[in-house]
Amino acid sequence: KQFREGLEKSRRGFVEKVSDLMIRRKKIDEEFYEELEEILIGADVGVNTVMTLVDELRTEVKKQRIENAAELQPILSRKLMELLRGDDDVRLNENPDGITVILFVGVNGVGKTTTIGKLAHRYKQEGKKVLLAAGDTFRAGAIEQLEVWGQRAGVDVIKQSAGSDPAAVMYDAVQAAKQRGVEVLICDTAGRLQNKSNLMEELAKIFRVIQREIPGAPHEVLMVLDATTGQNALAQAKLFGEKSGVTGLVLTKLDGTAKGGIVVAIRQELNLPVKLVGLGEKMEDLQPFDSEQFVHALFS
Ligand code: GDP
Repeated sequence: KQFREGLEKSRRGFVEKVSDLMIRRKKIDEEFYEELEEILIGADVGVNTVMTLVDELRTEVKKQRIENAAELQPILSRKLMELLRGDDDVRLNENPDGITVILFVGVNGVGKTTTIGKLAHRYKQEGKKVLLAAGDTFRAGAIEQLEVWGQRAGVDVIKQSAGSDPAAVMYDAVQAAKQRGVEVLICDTAGRLQNKSNLMEELAKIFRVIQREIPGAPHEVLMVLDATTGQNALAQAKLFGEKSGVTGLVLTKLDGTAKGGIVVAIRQELNLPVKLVGLGEKMEDLQPFDSEQFVHALFS
């Protein structure tokens, strides 16, 4: 799915509200700004960001002596694009000298397994040799679910039995990757949030094993967040992301929310790039995040 189709709900849910407001009110007065703030906050853009954004709009209105609200639309989309831009390098880090290791973290249900399957498919399409590691040995069904995605993508999965040590699975996976000439090893990890300190220890152990076997690995630690949970996703990222060496974010289910503004809030409040976005449940519905495409899909 492309951005345009994937962001249909957000376009109808909040961007059209903005357009309606601009057409309906015409006059740019205090009530106009208040309504605009409400819509943007309602779309999960984040209160602080909305305040800054609206202040900047006020400045532009004065500077350019804008009288008709409709003229604000291109200015608003430009401002949003500026907020989202960051360094905009969303390419995933790769290991130039051998196996690239990508570790996935995230709470259960956010779409971690699905994203791993989609990413495996992407690399496969690029002609890369890919292997998956079933590191979530805790959640019932997690291993089987990863195997289903492995089959769909045509990629092998290294696993042990449920309840086994995830670090041991990683060790096996790295050995297999070396033997089989694998280029990209994608690792699942457990996503339970309760027992947080255990989870951190488990991750630290996984890191140690991977680093020992492949210097410089993991090359990416991607945290998966569910866009439909809005500000909750942001809170999760703050809580979880700081200590686990996260290098980038994946925002899933953007197709399922009318509050696409969460991307802006995340970009503003976290010092982490959104590298990939999920735009649907199918294998092809994963895209590298592109701020320009994102804003265009919303506003045009
Ligand atoms: P996990 O527990 O984090 O591994 O989550 P899953 O990968 O099992 O996904 C949970 C649910 O979210 C499944 O029903 C997926 O089909 C769905 N899902 C995952 N990513 C997306 C997405 O980008 N868009 C939509 N609409 N659904 C998604």
